[in-house]
Amino acid sequence: MTDQRDNALQYAHNNKEAFLGAYKEILAIPSISTEKAHRPDIQHAAEWLSAQLQSLGMQQVQLFPTGGSPIVYGEYLGVTGAPTVLVYGHYDVQPVDPVDLWKTGPFEPTVIGDDIFARGASDMKGQALITLKAAESLIKTGGMPINIKWLFEGEEEVGSPNLAAFIGSHTDILACDFAVNSDSGMIGRDHPTITYGLRGLAYFELRVFGPAHDLHSGMFGGVIHNPAIALAELIAGMHDGAGRVTLPGFYARVRDLSKEERAELADCRSMKVITSNKPVCLRCMEKPGSAPTNKTGVRPTLDVNGLLSGSPGKVPRP
Ligand SMILES: [Zn+2]
Repeated sequence: MTDQRDNALQYAHNNKEAFLGAYKEILAIPSISTEKAHRPDIQHAAEWLSAQLQSLGMQQVQLFPTGGSPIVYGEYLGVTGAPTVLVYGHYDVQPVDPVDLWKTGPFEPTVIGDDIFARGASDMKGQALITLKAAESLIKTGGMPINIKWLFEGEEEVGSPNLAAFIGSHTDILACDFAVNSDSGMIGRDHPTITYGLRGLAYFELRVFGPAHDLHSGMFGGVIHNPAIALAELIAGMHDGAGRVTLPGFYARVRDLSKEERAELADCRSMKVITSNKPVCLRCMEKPGSAPTNKTGVRPTLDVNGLLSGSPGKVPRP
């Protein structure tokens, strides 16, 4: 096995340019799932992936139609007695607005130094392609050591509305010993990371209504409770002075870390986050040396992702 792993790694190094070329091909497809105008691109990305699976010699390669984007499936079950892994991936990407903040075209993959810039490069066309190219490297140097199934969806960025139903109605073909989802990150460039838990997401929209019609602030300011101020007060009240969420029951079902997990976290390295010059550990989201807060990666947080009141019109960006 070690010999094959070495050979497979050597194959990957020898084919770096070809792999990079394939990566650029999939990155150039603007498979934005939130925008109807990009439906043909979604289809194109799905077909591109299925062609990759075909060329790897995968069996049962097909596009399953759903109510939205197709699900791409392929499998290789030729290794008797070996476990079967199901690899999950998604081929859709986030929208690109505001486009003028991009230094290079979002769908014109551009290599600068050791980095490649394009929408979806790290979320997650890169990871999806890595699994395919790892399999290729193994197949070309002796064959797959395990059985493998791929499931690529094209609706992750819109909340995977059709995935649960698809899984429910295809438990036979999706049966596996374990599943791998690499739609996550590494805590450092040279620090391989296995993510074994994610925080998940729950969200709500809060609307505060006031008087039935506009009131002049010269006449009513300070007399009538302004809904914008009421909303700001509500949001401000959701955290205490130490940054702890004050919503009743918010932490009620949060599991405490084990000793081992605490030790692992204490050991994590710091690194620079792209948008900040201050070193921050991506795993616990804390500045090194700072007192522990509830803002760690293993604790739930509460955020505001949009805020609107009155008639602000188009707000200029600073
Ligand atoms: Zn993702």
